[in-house]
Amino acid sequence: MVNEDLPPTTKRISILGATGSIGKSASDVILAGGEAFSVEVVTADRNAVALAETARALGANCAVVADPAAEPALAEALAGSGIEASAGREALIEAAARPVDITLAAIVGAAGLAPTLAAIEAGSDIALANKECLVSAGALFVAAAEKAGVKLLPVDSEHNAIFQVLDSRDPNSVEKIVLTASGGPFRTWSLEDMARATPKDAVAHPNWSMGQKISVDSSTLLNKGLEVIEAHYLFDLAPDQIEVLVHPQSIVHGLVAYRDGSVLAQMSAPDMRVPIANCLWWPERKSAPHKSLDIAEVASLTFERPDTERFPALTLARDALERGGFATNILNAANEIAVEAFLNSQIGYLEIVPVIAEALGRAESAGFRAAPESLGDALVMDDEGRRLAREAVTSRSGRQSTAGAG
Ligand code: NDP
Repeated sequence: MVNEDLPPTTKRISILGATGSIGKSASDVILAGGEAFSVEVVTADRNAVALAETARALGANCAVVADPAAEPALAEALAGSGIEASAGREALIEAAARPVDITLAAIVGAAGLAPTLAAIEAGSDIALANKECLVSAGALFVAAAEKAGVKLLPVDSEHNAIFQVLDSRDPNSVEKIVLTASGGPFRTWSLEDMARATPKDAVAHPNWSMGQKISVDSSTLLNKGLEVIEAHYLFDLAPDQIEVLVHPQSIVHGLVAYRDGSVLAQMSAPDMRVPIANCLWWPERKSAPHKSLDIAEVASLTFERPDTERFPALTLARDALERGGFATNILNAANEIAVEAFLNSQIGYLEIVPVIAEALGRAESAGFRAAPESLGDALVMDDEGRRLAREAVTSRSGRQSTAGAG
């Protein structure tokens, strides 16, 4: 599939999750890069019309929807374009394994695991947005990347910040890193108000425009918990070397504190095109579309410790990291179910964390202890985490309707 007509410096790219928030920002970066990039594959779940538009705009060779029911719409929308269209999980995984220089892994949730692993095994560097890969099966993904000799380039703004300022030549020189959190829409809300929070409140992020699931994760701070786990695997740091600070302006994304007393930080306007461009152009730095940062206009940068009483998700994620790979896998799966249940108004906002905790407790009682050793293991564990979380949701919705009936 190597295109002989491309200039030798052109980077071949595949975008898994091209219709999402990260996928759209990546399209901006790629279009601004002109001939520097050539797009091989773009994928979506079922959003066929948007995928076809993206494929045409980027001049992709192939477009794949995971949902077979979306195939006719994709074929119709691509008619006459010469772009290959296919559908289904297997087709998506096969497309992810096409040889390219870099794959942007931006599918949301555990659905991103198999295609991302296929891209790694095919030898593509990975611009990793899908943090769930590292949370569900971190040791496995890091080992697979090492074995294939590919680079995991972090797209998450905090990890990309650390990636930019971390001097990896001497790991012992690093005392700790700091991941910043905006604090989300409920940073100043009381617990009483949070108990009444609606899905609309939770997805209204103050600084970032993101997909629904990660917006809810940001509001609970579970996103920051997932990021602590992600950082542990990406940078091989002990959990107590990874600190979280709330920084409401979202300008400083990550800091590295060195043992000699220097602290290096990376700053940018809150715009995901900045870390995406950093990954896609790496190791070069080239001009890319982005909101510019006027530090004088921002004027003040503030930092505070997270309130773990109102945001217990952070502690839950840290506990899971201490317990090991099975616990982070279940945490991720149970969170996906709990967030979906909240968005569907089956549970209240403050029940998201108890649902995850209940699923984790039940998994431990059922004897889960070992980290997943294969993708199959990771997916079986993930299924179990979802099943346990669904049970926890059902028992809570049952309680709600019984209370309502009284
Ligand atoms: P979105 O929900 O906006 O987009 C998700 C993408 O994944 C869409 O292309 C969607 O297709 C596709 N998708 C969803 N389900 C499936 C499935 N079962 N199989 C195949 N494809 C699927 O998510 P985001 O762009 O916000 O986030 C993507 C990833 O990046 C997440 O892991 C998130 O944690 C991470 N991330 C996001 C950031 C952000 O600013 N948004 C920041 C840092 C990390 P369709 O359109 O058809 O549904």
